[in-house]
Amino acid sequence: MSDTLRTYDVVVIGAGPVGENVADRTSAAGLSTVIVESELIGGECSFWACEPSKALLRPVLARADARRVPGLRQAVAGPLDVAAVLAHRDDIVNHWQDDDQVDWLNSVSVHLVRGQGRFDGPRQVVVSTPDGDTVRLTARHAVAVCTGTGTALPDLPHLDEIRPWTNREATGADRVPGRLAVVGGGVVAVEMATAWRALGAQVTMLVRGSRGLLTRMEPFAGEMVADALREVGVDVRFGASVTSVTREEGDAGEVRITLADGEQLAADEILFATGRAPRTDDIGLETIGLTPGDWLTVDDTFRVSAINDGWLYAVGDVNHRVLMTHQGKYQARIAGAVIGARAHGELVDDSRWGPHVATADSVAVPQVVFTDPEVASVGLTTREAERTGRRIRVVDYDIGGVAGAVQYAKGYRGKARMLVDLDRGTVAGVTFVGPGVAELLHSATIAVTSEVPVERLWHAVPAFPTISEVWLRLLETYRG
Ligand SMILES: Cc1cc2nc3c(=O)[nH]c(=O)nc-3n(C[C@H](O)[C@H](O)[C@H](O)COP(=O)(O)OP(=O)(O)OC[C@H]3O[C@@H](n4cnc5c(N)ncnc54)[C@H](O)[C@@H]3O)c2cc1C
Repeated sequence: MSDTLRTYDVVVIGAGPVGENVADRTSAAGLSTVIVESELIGGECSFWACEPSKALLRPVLARADARRVPGLRQAVAGPLDVAAVLAHRDDIVNHWQDDDQVDWLNSVSVHLVRGQGRFDGPRQVVVSTPDGDTVRLTARHAVAVCTGTGTALPDLPHLDEIRPWTNREATGADRVPGRLAVVGGGVVAVEMATAWRALGAQVTMLVRGSRGLLTRMEPFAGEMVADALREVGVDVRFGASVTSVTREEGDAGEVRITLADGEQLAADEILFATGRAPRTDDIGLETIGLTPGDWLTVDDTFRVSAINDGWLYAVGDVNHRVLMTHQGKYQARIAGAVIGARAHGELVDDSRWGPHVATADSVAVPQVVFTDPEVASVGLTTREAERTGRRIRVVDYDIGGVAGAVQYAKGYRGKARMLVDLDRGTVAGVTFVGPGVAELLHSATIAVTSEVPVERLWHAVPAFPTISEVWLRLLETYRG
């Protein structure tokens, strides 16, 4: 057992997509950088979240699209080839090996220390390596916590004993359960219900509230997704609060679920898609005056607000601003630039839309839900606009009426909503629901971020016949 001491300009804890990008940026800024990782380089996103879930969903959505194309429908009438879908998922996650990502870290001159990193006082991080060695790291300029999140399981008795599915099993399982209960009604719940239903499971969704699915988005999004899930045979139940779960003895033991109204149901597996908790419970936060298990609240330059002399940064899921990879990577690019600027004594430009502030976090967060229909949104929803007192006009259009959509799929069903900020004359938010709308989203993100006047958007001509023509229809509707 050895005990090594090393000093770097920057220490990054957690090599998920966010930690990797912080390290890349600080290294590019000429700062010596080390990254600490306890599992796989690439994090939750690469191995148990974004990547494997989309690998499972891509064949599902491609088949659903093909089934709406006359002449093609018959060719894809059969079931999915489950073994091939799971093998594709395994390929996408590189069979849970991270050697490619290690090569990439080397290529950007970031040192790697494998093991669990914990603070041992300000600027000090102690890593317990898998070999039982200890590496003590000191940061000259900054430590960035990028430890992400894990599933937040509800406080139900003996839950750990029943081996519930979290996102890890939901994205990594190597066989299809006969009956899958999905607890939750958010993005992970609807995506995984979509995937496992198409792969052959009988799926029951247990949603505690009565406000529908995807409640952070425009209500019509959740309604259309719920209708579509029901059409493919998912049992979607609202007001279904789980009060206890037990499992029969044995590996294949059945799961028994009791709901608050006394109803009981059985399943082979139960997935809890019930939110996320920060991975800060075992990183030594108590040694720097913070509380283990808390989210790390940051200012707009990603410095942890509670730490006085500004050496501690928290980036990505762990700061609870936006729990999505692309937004975490955006934060990482900015945090890396901020750390670089401060280390070199340069001016930090924290003005709105400046290079050192993640302004889009509060104005233009794009999100795609890979269900059938897809949901794609950016910026404000109607409810948020009302809550914040913005004067907006809501413009709706049925995407099925657009020539490109008619070409895309017979009987295309979809809806678009554009929110126009009446004081600024710009687009404040957009939501699209329908097949193929994911790739439409960036046009809306550019409109919202760039604050393009609606009158100028009138001159942005969508090609005929594409689904993008929905922009023209929305603008025509707005102009009356
Ligand atoms: C099922 C599912 C699907 C998703 N799909 C999408 C999607 O399609 N698009 C999207 O944008 N977002 C998606 N997300 C969200 C996305 O996964 C997260 O926003 C993203 O992973 C956050 O990145 P991160 O680097 O902050 O954290 P993580 O990816 O969680 O990485 C954190 C890393 O830190 C390591 N770590 C933690 N503690 C320590 C420690 N003490 N010492 C050393 N290492 C440590 C962990 O091992 C991990 O590798 C999905 C989430 C789920 C659950």
